[in-house]
Amino acid sequence: MEFETKIVRGKVQPDPSTGAIIPPIFQTATYVLEEVGKDKGFDYTRSANPTREMLEEYLALIEGGEYGVAFSSGMATVDSCLKLLKAGDHVVCSDDVYGGVSRHFDKLLTQYNLSFTYVDSQNVEKVEAAIQTNTVMIWIETPTNPLLKITDLKSVGDIANKHDLLYCVDSTFATPVFLKPLNFGADLVVHSTTKYLSGHNQLIGGIVITNRKELFDSLKFIQKTVGAVPGPFDCWLTMLGLKTLDLRMKKHHENGVKVAEYLESHPKVEKVIYPGLKSHPMHHIVKEQMSGYSGMISFELKGGLESGIALMNHVKLCLLAESLGSVETMITHPATMTHVDVPREERLARGFSDGLVRLSVGIENVNDIINDLEQALNFS
Ligand code: PLP
Repeated sequence: MEFETKIVRGKVQPDPSTGAIIPPIFQTATYVLEEVGKDKGFDYTRSANPTREMLEEYLALIEGGEYGVAFSSGMATVDSCLKLLKAGDHVVCSDDVYGGVSRHFDKLLTQYNLSFTYVDSQNVEKVEAAIQTNTVMIWIETPTNPLLKITDLKSVGDIANKHDLLYCVDSTFATPVFLKPLNFGADLVVHSTTKYLSGHNQLIGGIVITNRKELFDSLKFIQKTVGAVPGPFDCWLTMLGLKTLDLRMKKHHENGVKVAEYLESHPKVEKVIYPGLKSHPMHHIVKEQMSGYSGMISFELKGGLESGIALMNHVKLCLLAESLGSVETMITHPATMTHVDVPREERLARGFSDGLVRLSVGIENVNDIINDLEQALNFS
């Protein structure tokens, strides 16, 4: 099957008992045993559920991996991957990860004696230099949230391999339509399915994909032991969203390129960060490892924080909201919204200013999106 076909069809077959083209939702907590010790492969939904398994297989297929393990959020997925580690272990991590991830690492996991070194993983030498004797994992996000930093996945994969480290890539912004981290040596690929994969702002969820059976077994054990599982209805909704992932991503990409070019040429805009622009410092790597750029753009206005806030308060079509990756265009102020828990000095040191605006370009008509930005920029 070609990739577009896999996305639409997954491994889903019409329901054998009714012919229903869309599979039923197995909205159940438990399963009746035929006799003691004899079940039909399911005993309790925290351990396994047919709708969830269908989603896990579907996403593994699309990502090009063997196994998928679904969780109740992207953050529950991150947490479960980190539960593969033990006290005393150290992680080398991209310095511009989503603020919820660094909050989790720094405020919770350090209490369990895990330690983290953040590096600008655009520079792979910095990744290798940060490795310590107790390092067990490299955690890469690419493109990052919100500065859209790009990591050369193959080079970091070689480093992980050389030092025998677990290599985990959060590929939420790229999606399997544009990037397949397993092809570059990743052991674990993480997605917040809340975003592009489900695509319609309808749920919170996460998935991790791996080709390594022993990691799959450990993650399944963590899934059933901790129980941060997505409900069957959310799994079913994610599958409906997935059917149009390829189409949606191509439109996000097409609109993203046009909006980024518009912003870059606007006299009030100081800087635009978009992996698809030649001005992005890692554009050459983007072209090698990704087949599209998606709809995420970050930019700064010449008037700084005040102008950014004026813009966000005057958009009409673009929605001022915390999330990303949905069909609607959303605009966010990362410093006060998504990354509020990242200390200001740390943000500024990374080049993440108070006035940074993040745009998740949707699939509406691109002229409407640009016209809305144009009228709002008059107030900046
Ligand atoms: N990873 C990235 C790159 C994200 O942007 C987010 C959320 O914005 C997460 C993980 C966490 O996902 P969730 O909000 O589904 O818990």
